[in-house]
Amino acid sequence: MSEQYDVIVIGAGPAGYVAAIRCAQLGLQVACIDEYLDERGKPSPGGTCLNVGCIPSKALLESSHHYEQAQQQFAEHGIRVGQLELDVATLQKRKQQVVRDLTGGIQSLFKANKVAFHPGRATLQQNNRVKVTDHDNHATTLNAEHVILASGSRPVELPFAPFDDNQVVDSTGALAFDVVPQRLGIIGAGVIGLELGSVWQRLGAEVIVLEAQETFLPGADRDIAKQANKLLGQQGLDIRQGARVEAIHSGKTVKVDYTDGQGSQSLEFDKLIVAIGRRPNSEGLCADDLSPGIDERGFVQVDDHYRTNLEKVYAVGDLIPGPMLAHKGMEEGMAVAERIAGQYAEVDYDNIPFVIYTHPEIAWTGRTEQQLKDAGIDYRVGQFPFSANGRARAAGDTDGLIKVLADAHTDRVLGVHMLGPRASELIGQAVIARAFSTSAEDLALTMFAHPTLSESFHEAALDVGDRAIHRATSRKNKRK
Ligand code: FAD
Ligand code: NAD
Repeated sequence: MSEQYDVIVIGAGPAGYVAAIRCAQLGLQVACIDEYLDERGKPSPGGTCLNVGCIPSKALLESSHHYEQAQQQFAEHGIRVGQLELDVATLQKRKQQVVRDLTGGIQSLFKANKVAFHPGRATLQQNNRVKVTDHDNHATTLNAEHVILASGSRPVELPFAPFDDNQVVDSTGALAFDVVPQRLGIIGAGVIGLELGSVWQRLGAEVIVLEAQETFLPGADRDIAKQANKLLGQQGLDIRQGARVEAIHSGKTVKVDYTDGQGSQSLEFDKLIVAIGRRPNSEGLCADDLSPGIDERGFVQVDDHYRTNLEKVYAVGDLIPGPMLAHKGMEEGMAVAERIAGQYAEVDYDNIPFVIYTHPEIAWTGRTEQQLKDAGIDYRVGQFPFSANGRARAAGDTDGLIKVLADAHTDRVLGVHMLGPRASELIGQAVIARAFSTSAEDLALTMFAHPTLSESFHEAALDVGDRAIHRATSRKNKRK
């Protein structure tokens, strides 16, 4: 007899584990299946995010930031540290421990919520039966009324530069270097290229990033992207836009041939990271006689209820169209669970926070100026630089600004764009404000603690009405 559940979730990443736990909280019998094994060969739920994505990358960003601060900033605080030494093995061990603690936490949450965790590879079959092949190659079958597909995504490979886990690596390989490469090449100046490029550049690598597009971070606000590009360049990230990579030759080093506005170019690196996007894990997820409706890019198509074209089969997270972000997947996991339980739930796709964890951090929610112009919406702009913020000055972290875009007629906040210290945390305030359809004036009338970085958000909102206090120049704005 095969085990029977109300819900089976395939994939224990942020979308899948959240869906499983929420279903269990709502009184459903749940199983969650995940095939990932960590470097010790142990099952490790948490998906890309916890194992080889969000969390290890942030651990390395934190360590490398400390190292850079010790090198460049401590002296001005009157702190002398003598000979600074970098121990990459310890840095990597710490990262791995952070990952283990968190993935262990997911296992505890599964236990506490009575979610049955099945390590192994799942294949969906007819009538919502799910075949699970464990790591000893034993197959069992589970049955459920509902199945949630949350199998996530994996890195895209360049056809002429396959990953070799040594010289030409994906993000997973780039999180695990055991020595700092002297010359590091990165293909793709997207989120991963900038975050992991920052890590290894701070630790001493000479980093060149080759980006095919002419525009730096096309999804971000233009002013913010321009300033970020300049600051990252000053830090030592050599970002080359409009670079079309044509060939790669691996030998003692990796030689990369590309063309740009100046013609044919060639560079040599010790390691090459290919970070040109990710693709959904939709192949092999279902038996051959079954298809949940997959588009030409591999995404599973769903309706507003996350239903696929198969009866009582749903899909969430990186597997479906939309930004590939852990928090977007988690919200979908919550929503699908609540819908299965007969409740109402919706994800606000218009208010997703985007964050790039460089230093300074880049973060935004809502529309950019360009998008508002293209849509013919009248708007007003308020902005405030961190150089005029007391807390940022005390911290010696004054690069960047906050920009608030508000509807010229209703004053409703349509977009908030940040470049600055802790922008990843500050953007949460903007997301809450937008969730409640706040006006710039509402924000202006709100009291913010002093001295805090968040006062820059307050001042930018005040500036929408031309009444920022701590700015030397008042820009007679603004209506665009
Ligand atoms: P995943 O996390 O990919 O999880 C899917 C799980 O399903 C995996 O464990 C996989 O092994 C398992 N699986 C797949 N097929 C099967 C099968 N047939 N049977 C059993 N198991 C299966 N996002 C952010 O929001 N913030 C960040 O800071 C951030 N940083 C990132 C840094 C890096 C280096 C990378 C690579 C990604 C980062 N992301 C970040 C993106 C984030 O990791 C993903 O958006 C998120 O993990 C997607 O969640 P998911 O649950 O849809 O899929
Ligand atoms: P990305 O889409 O962010 O960036 C890929 C970049 O590579 C783009 O700028 C693209 O123009 C460029 N590119 C594509 N093909 C190229 C080529 N042949 N030559 C040169 N450049 C090329 O993808 P990513 O950085 O690989 O990240 C993958 C996903 O992971 C993203 O969707 C992102 O949302 C997610 N992620 C999020 C975070 C975060 O939220 N902080 C961090 C890391 C990853």
